[in-house]
Amino acid sequence: MNAERASIQSALQQLDLALQRHNQWYDAVIRTLVCDLPGEPDDVAPDAHHRCPFGRWYYEDAPAVLHRHPGFAAIEEQHERMHGLAAKLLGSLGNGQSVSVTDFDAFARELENLRLEIFTLRRDLENALYSLDELTGAGNRIGMLGVLREQQARVDRAVQSCCVVMIDIDHFKRVNDTWGHPAGDRVLAASARQLMKQLRPYDKLFRYGGEEFLLSLPDTDLATGHALAERLRESVAALPIPLDGHASIHVTMSFGIARMEPGLVVEQAIAHADKAMYEAKRAGRNCTRVWVEHTATADGTPST
Ligand code: GH3
Ligand code: MG
Ligand code: MG
Repeated sequence: MNAERASIQSALQQLDLALQRHNQWYDAVIRTLVCDLPGEPDDVAPDAHHRCPFGRWYYEDAPAVLHRHPGFAAIEEQHERMHGLAAKLLGSLGNGQSVSVTDFDAFARELENLRLEIFTLRRDLENALYSLDELTGAGNRIGMLGVLREQQARVDRAVQSCCVVMIDIDHFKRVNDTWGHPAGDRVLAASARQLMKQLRPYDKLFRYGGEEFLLSLPDTDLATGHALAERLRESVAALPIPLDGHASIHVTMSFGIARMEPGLVVEQAIAHADKAMYEAKRAGRNCTRVWVEHTATADGTPST
């Protein structure tokens, strides 16, 4: 499995486990309150949110993929607030006072909010997981059209110039035929990784089909997109891909780039990029062709 997917999956499992421990903590607190038992000193400490099992996981063990997620920071604040209210309830019980309905309701509300924050994060991670291609870690087609349509809307409003690039591995069938299908898989994953490594944060690579990728380039004019495509093409061609038990091999890719035009549907931009890519194949492969006004040329100038 692709590394990005594996790390999201592991984060999801850890989050579930942490949630389970949080529920156990909650059950114990309720038992303490209902049966009027002596509370745990950790639960009334000012840093109770660091001491509970969920907090220990949050601050000490939670993986980087979660720390990078904005929803993870939201959980911290909610968790701390909830513990503040729990400490207040347990504190009044410890002082022989009864728990006020207002305090209990506030605690229950913050607890519910915390669960909602955790479930929202969980859903975001699941969505990220389902929108990634298992083999390459590129986006899959589930999320692709949505991303492209958003871009098309910006083009229609003349807010941005955007490009799409169709990319196809050259003579990929030969790789499978010569080295076997698993080696072909490895080549697919390695070339996708090489492409993704060099993208700007807002660019996005999708696996369009078997050995075809679609790159979306928001806020990019044709000349900039063309230069980027050429850089990507050269870096994949220069990449040695190690295969089990064999020397490394090299593959090349053909690129076709098209600008998204105002008033056109996304599918049309994709078709233009695809036609330009086929021009690149016809021109001998391992090159980039540009779609301009019904002609695909090497440098963006209309051919005659
Ligand atoms: P061209 O330069 O014209 O693109 O030639 P090609 O050989 O790359 O193109 P062709 O369409 O003839 O072959 C594509 C091959 O990609 C055929 C198919 O078996 C292989 N393929 C598609 N998906 C996968 C995959 O997930 N893994 C592997 N190993 N091979 C795949
Ligand atoms: Mg193909
Ligand atoms: Mg191919």
